[in-house]
Order: sequence, then C-alpha cells, then structure tokens
Amino acid sequence: MVVPYTHEPFTDYTAEENKQLMLEALKKVEADLGKEYPLVIGGERIMTEDKIVSVNPSNKEEVIGYVSKANTELAEKAMKIADETFQTYWRSTDAKFRADILFRAAAIIRRRKHEFNAHLAKEAGKPWKEADGETAEAIDFLEYYGRQMLKLKDGMPVNSRPIEHNRFDYIPLGVGLVISPWNFSFAIMAGTAVAAMVTGNTVLLKPASVTPVIAYKFMEVLEEAGMPKGVINYIPGPGAEVGDYLVNHPRTRFISFTGSRDVGLNIFEKAAKIQEGQIWLKRTILEMGGKDTIVVDKEADLELAAESIVHSAFGFSGQKCSACSRAVIHEEVYDQVKDRVVELTKELTIGDPADNNYMGPVIDQASYDKIMKYIEIGKEEGELLVGGTGDDSKGWFVNPTVFADLDPKARIMQEEIFGPVVALAKAKDFTEAIEIANNTEYGLTGAVITNNREHLEQARRDFHVGNLYFNRGCTAAIVGYQPFGGFNMSGTDSKAGGPDYLIQHMQGKTTSEML
Ligand code: GLU
Repeated sequence: MVVPYTHEPFTDYTAEENKQLMLEALKKVEADLGKEYPLVIGGERIMTEDKIVSVNPSNKEEVIGYVSKANTELAEKAMKIADETFQTYWRSTDAKFRADILFRAAAIIRRRKHEFNAHLAKEAGKPWKEADGETAEAIDFLEYYGRQMLKLKDGMPVNSRPIEHNRFDYIPLGVGLVISPWNFSFAIMAGTAVAAMVTGNTVLLKPASVTPVIAYKFMEVLEEAGMPKGVINYIPGPGAEVGDYLVNHPRTRFISFTGSRDVGLNIFEKAAKIQEGQIWLKRTILEMGGKDTIVVDKEADLELAAESIVHSAFGFSGQKCSACSRAVIHEEVYDQVKDRVVELTKELTIGDPADNNYMGPVIDQASYDKIMKYIEIGKEEGELLVGGTGDDSKGWFVNPTVFADLDPKARIMQEEIFGPVVALAKAKDFTEAIEIANNTEYGLTGAVITNNREHLEQARRDFHVGNLYFNRGCTAAIVGYQPFGGFNMSGTDSKAGGPDYLIQHMQGKTTSEML
C-alpha cells in the first residue's frame, strides 16, 4: 500500500538556506558542462561520432553537452530491442514492480532537486522558480502515475453469472515512441515516458534535440531506481530522420508526442497510414499548441487580472503551450488593466536564469527569429506599449512585449508565437469576450477574472478549452489536481496528470470462462 498522492511542495528560494543550496548545485552542474553522452539502447551505451550540441540559451558559447545522435540504423536496433523486451519480458511483469521503480525514481529526484533545477536553468534557460516547479512536476508524474497503475492493475469490475467467470483487464499495447518537448524537457519528458512504461509498454524515447542532456540524466535515475535494460531506450536524433522512421515503423504501436501543432499533425497523418506488415491501428496521444486567453470582466479584481496576465504571459518567457498570449478585457476597465499590465511588465527582471532573474532567454535562434518576426507583425497590427526589442548577441533574449488594441482576427491574436508577447483586445460585454476567446482553432487553456457568478457559470459552459481557470492565471496545472490537455488543434485532450491518462497506453481485454 502507498500513502495517498499529494503534490510535491515548491522550494522557497527567497530563503537564504535554499538559495545557497541552489548556488552550490549550479556549481556542480557547471563542473559537468561539456561532457559527452551516449545513446542507451538495451542498457548498452553507444557513443556516436556525430553529436547534438546542447548549448545554454543564455550564453551560446557555453556547451551543456555533446550528445550522441541516433540514425535510422540505430533507431532500428532500438526498435528490435524494445520489441523483444516487450514480448519476452516487460508486458508480463507485475504492475507493483513497475510502479515501485517510479516511486524510487521520485525519491532520488527529490533528494537531488536543486541539481535538476540548476540543470534546467542551464540547459533550458529556466528561471529558478520555474525550474523548481518543473522538477516538482516531474516528481508528481512519477508519484501519481505509479499510484494510478496500482489502481488499474486488477482491471475494472464486470458482472459474472453462475455459469461463468468474467474478467476485464487492461493490458499494454507494445512499443511506444515518446517524442518529448524542450519547454518541459524534464517534467513532460519524464511524465510521458513513464506513463508509457509503467503500463507495461516498452519505450523509444526521443527527447527534443535542444535539451537532450536532462533526459540522459533521467535515464540514469531510472536505472538507479531499478529499471531493467531495454525498457526505455534513449535515442535522441533528428526528427526528420529518427522521428519519421519510427513514426512510420510497422512495429510502433503508439506515439506519445508533445510539441508544435505542425509536427503533431504530421505525426497524426503518418501514423494513420498502414505500413506493410503492420497489423494494428497506431494510437496517437498528441499535446500540441495553444492560443490561450485571459478574459477580464468589468466586475473583477483588476490587480489580480493584471498580475495573472503578466505572470501567465511572461513566466518562462511565454514558452508554454498554456501561456497567456491574449487578454480580452471589458471596455469599461480596459484602460485600467492595460496600464497596470504595462507597469508590472516594466518591473520584471530579464537576464541569465542562473542569476535568478524573473525571465530568461528563449530557447534558440529559430525561436528568437520567429518571435521577433511576430513582434514586427504586431507593430503593424496594434499599438506597442512595452518591449518589442531583443538581443541575440550572447544568448537569445526577447524583452517582455505588450501590444494593445488588437482586432480579434489579427495574426498575433490567432497564431501561436511561443514567446514573451501578449496582445490586448477590448470587448463590449462578457458574451463578446467569450466569443473572442473562442475564435481560434486551439482550445487549450483559458482564464476568467470576474466576481460575477453568472458569468463564471456562462464561461464554464461556453468557454471551450480543456483547462479553464477562474480568478487565477492560465498556466501551472498541477498533476492530479488539474489534468492537462486541450481541445481542437491543441491535441487529443489526453489529459496528462489525470485519472484517465494511463488507460490510453493500454487496451481492455475481456476473458470469460464457462464453469
Ligand atoms: N502543463 C503546463 C502548464 O499548465 C504547460 C505544458 C506545456 O507548455 O506543454 O502550464
């Protein structure tokens, strides 16, 4: 028996003691910079000549690590091993044995929390607070999915008659391809990999190419926690080569992907095509983008509204699919909220996350260029209130940017920017605000700031997003508390960290025995 799940508490880095622990952890991580990392296939370490270079987005010159790069040949080798490990061993292991690996891994990470936070500050450009939230989320996924598996291990109750004995069990699917994102390079990588593994599947883990080192470190944790070889195989590599090859592979049973809409749709399409020798319909679990809105009503705590907009828009430089990229504000309070958003934005500190700034860099040159392009579009479409500038000389820094007076159909109101840019628009009443909030092809998160009960209920019914928040920001879902996933082009609404997440990695089997 395990104690009931509660989420991992966050670290208070304003406390001097914790601050010192983080500074020590940063030193430890710095001492490890520039190492070479192998692939892990069937437990075997394979060092390739060709390497992915992971750099610190605050300082392009600083190499986090040189990571071996898989190719189609190595992907095929990993597939063979994962398939064999599944068939001959892993699928019939005891669920308790599998869940225990997750619980032990959670304990190891908890013990080394500051070190993982420091690593995220360096490799992903995450400010301390955000890094700590992410490490806590990784622990939460392990603790939560371990417990969920213990609930599912005996299947679900079904009826039997006097002449028969019936059972309904969940069995694993097979080999899963897990393609994880760089923006939650630890939490989502770990969560998606262990959800696939604890349910009895074997895994091919292809982490994002800009943040592969954290995933290697997680492999080491899992091994220390007793994960047998061949169960999760670590194969970073180019999407166009390794990713496509495995998405198309006839032995891939399911694909769990978190990332952009375009890549997600490409996977969805490829996975639907039956390959020669393929005897199943591949399952896809897809978490894609968002164009998330905070709606501010006229009867609302306007300070809370401004704070929610600023923190949801600029936390981790807006690089969350849940980030607030638009705020739709009742015309009667529009100017007040707008002015306060600008004031609060001007207070934010921007710089190297290792120095505990509020906002760090964006992840790479491509992101930087894309965001700066959208800022130029924003200048045409609306009024630039603050920000609008960037500096990519040392790292990829974009200043927090606020645009006002946008048409609801403007491009920066419609397209996902994935950076520190928020657009403000005016609505004549609450109903129009909800209509504007719903006018994108996405449907991931949203928030409503109002003291009007009727309006809250109206939003509950009509605001069409997978994660809807009242009187708070629209980011920072907690595992087991706010299951996370969206509607429409935001993905398959698979609800990571929710009670029905694991079942999507399994299939139901009925057995009926005549007596
Ligand atoms: N789960 C995160 C949140 O609630 C966002 C995940 C993502 O950006 O992919 O903020």
